[in-house]
Amino acid sequence: MIKKIEHIGVAVKSLDAQKTFEKILNYSSYKTEDVSSEKVKVIFFNVGESKLELLESTDSSGTITKFIEKKGEGIHHIALSVDNIIEEMNRLQKEGFEFIYAEPKRGADNQLINFIHPKFTHGVLIELCQEIK
Ligand code: ZN
Repeated sequence: MIKKIEHIGVAVKSLDAQKTFEKILNYSSYKTEDVSSEKVKVIFFNVGESKLELLESTDSSGTITKFIEKKGEGIHHIALSVDNIIEEMNRLQKEGFEFIYAEPKRGADNQLINFIHPKFTHGVLIELCQEIK
């Protein structure tokens, strides 16, 4: 079951961008994390029941570097919170969707994650995430 928008991921050239979002939100981020498996450093802000994730690339061959080269900074993905990521992957694969990773992997902020390939989602990169209890 899809529960809510867990977070919106924003690709930035530098995590200095957090200053801008601190001004907009008028409060500080709650977490900075190095996600070596995804070659990114991320900062999270709580925004009500959802979050904002800023992503900076830590590798010139990383997907965030490529994204910014192609499209510039901006919204990179929308993450949907699910109660069971395996069930949702199975359900969506039966509907013909393909995922970036064959198996869910450990992402930032204590979540199991996977991405639906954007060629199936009108150019919107959708991340599924299940909180690791
Ligand atoms: Zn994300």
